[in-house]
Amino acid sequence: MSDGSKFLNDVHAYFDKAAAFTNHPKGLLKQIKVCNGIFTFKFPVEIDGSIQVIEGIRVQHSHHKTPTKGGIRYSEMVDEQEVEALATLMTFKCAVVDVPFGGAKGGIKINPAKYQVKDLEKITRRYTTELIKRNMIGPGIDVPAPDYGSGPREMAWIADTYATFKHDEINALGCVTGKPLGQGGIQGRTEATGLGLFFGVREALNNKEDMKKLGLKPGITGKKIIVQGLGNVGYFSAKFCSEGGGLIVGIAEREGGIYNAKGLDVEKVFKHRKEKGSILDYPGAKNFKNSLELLEMECDVLIPAALENQITKTNASRIKAMVIAEGANGPVTKDAEEILNKKGVMIIPDLYLNAGGVTVSYFEWLKNLSHVRFGRMEKRFQEIQTSRLLAALENVTGKKLDKVQTQLVVHGAEERDLVNSGLEETMIAAFNEIRNIRNSNPKIEDLRTAAFVSGINKIAASYGALGFWP
Ligand code: NAD
Repeated sequence: MSDGSKFLNDVHAYFDKAAAFTNHPKGLLKQIKVCNGIFTFKFPVEIDGSIQVIEGIRVQHSHHKTPTKGGIRYSEMVDEQEVEALATLMTFKCAVVDVPFGGAKGGIKINPAKYQVKDLEKITRRYTTELIKRNMIGPGIDVPAPDYGSGPREMAWIADTYATFKHDEINALGCVTGKPLGQGGIQGRTEATGLGLFFGVREALNNKEDMKKLGLKPGITGKKIIVQGLGNVGYFSAKFCSEGGGLIVGIAEREGGIYNAKGLDVEKVFKHRKEKGSILDYPGAKNFKNSLELLEMECDVLIPAALENQITKTNASRIKAMVIAEGANGPVTKDAEEILNKKGVMIIPDLYLNAGGVTVSYFEWLKNLSHVRFGRMEKRFQEIQTSRLLAALENVTGKKLDKVQTQLVVHGAEERDLVNSGLEETMIAAFNEIRNIRNSNPKIEDLRTAAFVSGINKIAASYGALGFWP
């Protein structure tokens, strides 16, 4: 069985397990589980004088809400089942964090490192054209985003291609998210997944009852943390967890891992890898030649933030962390999860924990549709109001704040403040919803099942809203 089919089987098994804890009719559950549409296509691109046939895919898992939403992967490893599994996860992820989209995912089967920028641009623009031809992209239809191997540059090409074909569509920029700031992007999108992960982990670790069961003191402060992957999700997760009081003791990358029980400086490790081309030989840290070995080292929280299938039945019993925070999609296999659940390990699941990216993508889409930057209308007004209030208080009390304190109090919300605050609220509210579902039924042992139950219930309710289901 390919890794992609195994991943899809695992996602379906998680769904079935959770569905058994709901009382929706069988037919409705089937509709919520099945994939609504898979579109595979091949197209020619001229590269250095010869024609190359490129394979593309777009999977729209659920149309219970539109637009559908999900990233585009640029990788030679793209396979249909893997993309379907990721699109399915997107459906439940959006539901769990109350983002009003159906799930989707796409892929272009190329190794981007083997192409020049001009050729990547041609491929991306042609992939977009194939979607436009079939009415499979648009601010109200399907809204892609970056994923493994793609970033803001590719999203800008997609937006530009779409806007060229749909020059009279006023909301054209909302056809894709994760765009550069100057081309309709939003402050805070780049770090959103890592920041969202931090909010989720902090909320989980703050719960006294749960921490007591795990034999840990409540709070993130001083918790020993290992992170796998120093890419977008891994780097920002490590950075925010460290700034929030956690102690990053280990970091793994594709060439191996480093460990120092006294803690690592995330920025310095990042700089070291950039300069030396490897994470290994970082001063004061022990080297591990294999990234997987590092995952078995002593720590409280393990954050796999690189790839799927990293914690399997082979290494699950050797994992020492009592909390596994899934930054990547599908880093823990189902077999491994059974072993870890028996050990009492808390797994904070991907479909909740890495939803920060899609949450801020939703904010970007809202910004594109409203054609106004968040904070533009109210910032000054807020500042004037607060200044007046402060002046009145100072008058009454006869005490004055210094310049720095005044600035802190008076500062009106800018786009980044509002984005981060919306993200924090989303992650905290969703965690408590999931935790309450887990606690409401002693047979629901884990947060993943609870998160799927939360997603299924919300999707079922949205079919009710359409009148299909009383
Ligand atoms: P990325 O390409 O920025 O980073 C991945 C990192 O993992 C790279 O630095 C790569 O060198 C490293 N890596 C590869 N093989 C490794 C190995 N064997 N051991 C250790 N490190 C290894 O990608 P990303 O955007 O950070 O995505 C990582 C995961 O998070 C993926 O599963 C992705 O689907 C998921 N995710 C990403 C986002 C997002 O907003 N970027 C949102 C949700 C989920």
